Amino acid sequence: MENNEIVSVLTCDCNPGFNWKNKNTYNAHKKSLRHKSYEINKEEREYKININKIQIEYNKLKLENMQLRELYLNSAKENMNLKKKLNLIN
Ligand SMILES: [Zn+2]
Repeated sequence: MENNEIVSVLTCDCNPGFNWKNKNTYNAHKKSLRHKSYEINKEEREYKININKIQIEYNKLKLENMQLRELYLNSAKENMNLKKKLNLIN
């Protein structure tokens, strides 16, 4: 027997394993407090992850900036020494 019927399964991440019987109850669920608080919590988790990524990137850039600054100051010092030596020669 062939079965060409397309069955839509109405599920939601906030209630794993549960299938809503029809679009109406599913849509009502999407408007429910339970679902909305799930959505808010999910967003908060994503924000926290993003903030964490930004913090890591910021620390990386801060370190890189410090290293470049040190490199710049050292080469400025070396330049000064070389100029002094050249002045002594000339
Ligand atoms: Zn839900």
